[in-house]
Amino acid sequence: MRVAVVGSGPSGIYAADALMAEDGVEVDIIDMLPVPFGLVRYGVAPDHLSIRSVRDTLNKVLQKPGVRFIGNVTVGTDVTPEDLLACYDAVILTYGASSDRRLGIPGEDLDGSVAATDFVAWYCGHPDADRARFERLLPTATSAVVVGVGNVAVDVTRVLAKTVGELDHTDMPQHVLDTLASSGITDVYLLGRRGPAQATFTTKELKELGELLEADVIVDPADVALDEASAAAADADRAVGRNVDVIREWSTRAPEGRPRRIHVRFLSRPVELTGDGRVRSVIVERTRLTPDGGAEGTGVTEEIPADLVVRSVGYRGTQLGGLPFDERRNVIPHEEGRVLDGGAAVPGFYVAGWIKRGPTGIIGTNKKDAVATVASLVADRDAGLLPTPSRPGEFDALLTERGIQAVTTSGWDSIDAAERALGATRGRDRTTIHDRDALLRAAVS
Ligand code: NAP
Repeated sequence: MRVAVVGSGPSGIYAADALMAEDGVEVDIIDMLPVPFGLVRYGVAPDHLSIRSVRDTLNKVLQKPGVRFIGNVTVGTDVTPEDLLACYDAVILTYGASSDRRLGIPGEDLDGSVAATDFVAWYCGHPDADRARFERLLPTATSAVVVGVGNVAVDVTRVLAKTVGELDHTDMPQHVLDTLASSGITDVYLLGRRGPAQATFTTKELKELGELLEADVIVDPADVALDEASAAAADADRAVGRNVDVIREWSTRAPEGRPRRIHVRFLSRPVELTGDGRVRSVIVERTRLTPDGGAEGTGVTEEIPADLVVRSVGYRGTQLGGLPFDERRNVIPHEEGRVLDGGAAVPGFYVAGWIKRGPTGIIGTNKKDAVATVASLVADRDAGLLPTPSRPGEFDALLTERGIQAVTTSGWDSIDAAERALGATRGRDRTTIHDRDALLRAAVS
């Protein structure tokens, strides 16, 4: 059985690994980028070294006999999903959720208002990141507002508030470190539209904000005065209770006069971004919790100065070609990993990861998810339900016919070596090569 996996993030690689448990299976993992690992490379914060080290585990799967990485091939433009089904017995879609959700408020498109997905991609060295934009915005900003209180918002806040000395050991490209060093930002406001008991960040990540070298954390005690339902949630759920404890402790701290300040605000939702071309402030409305756990506006507003606004309100999946798509949930509809169209399974197509269940969970969540999808695929194979490919084993020939220069596993190994060598020149383990042409050159060197 030959299987194509679309997307080389954790879900795709875990799916390939699960398939390797079967006899006689070959898996090609196809990615639009010349490098593997998806959000492990371009989402996990570079200063979270232990989380990023999962790439070593993922890389071992890529090196297994029977598994191939095929990068620099975009499904949807270079090849279609139907092309894949012509060459393979089955296709597993694991292309994630790389777009951003929007706030839907006036001023959202002002210069200086950016999606967290774009900011994170830039500091991780994504080849498609808008480098010039951040090199223009950061040195001219003094106050940043980060909207949302999930782990991505915490990552963004930490990167904005850290000194470059605290980031220098990471694999961030040098131009990113230089731009962060030139940042004029002294104040970062982290805004949650509900209370601390409803925030989605995790305690370990949250606590780091209170341990930065040159940043004070400031919390208004009024924000940690829990209503009855929130207090009950904090008692019932230890993870929620720990978050509340951390924030409560911060609310008792007196600022120590450090050069940067992180202002953590709850019950605060942005209602408008103002500015003349470039964003200059965020109008924030005070909210109160509703009995159903939501938040409603109180009509009381304040204006927070901001020349950078990072909207960190979640990732969003997008449709691929004419494949089925649930426009409301931004996922591919499925039953136990089998892609559904109008309630019926589409033979040969499977789905796993964020594009299956939405952008939630930690990296490990994707392993269980991928294993479950592969179990459905294997069951269908055993039941003779997989379609018969018209061009079995001819994917490489198809790429050649179309003049597409794919990066294979050995090409990735060369890039890997080049990134390690680049890092060594500055005493680091690795430095990410951010430029697509440079990646392609490194792949053939
Ligand atoms: P998330 O946890 O879903 O957080 C999204 C945040 O945006 C929530 O605080 C949400 O508030 C808020 N929000 C949504 N719409 C809003 C609006 N219109 N106005 C104001 N606020 C709004 O998503 P994420 O931070 O993007 O993270 C995605 C996944 O990756 C999560 O599972 C996360 O844990 C994981 N991740 C993990 C790590 C790590 O382990 N270190 C690091 C990064 C990401 P409401 O709750 O009120 O909707």
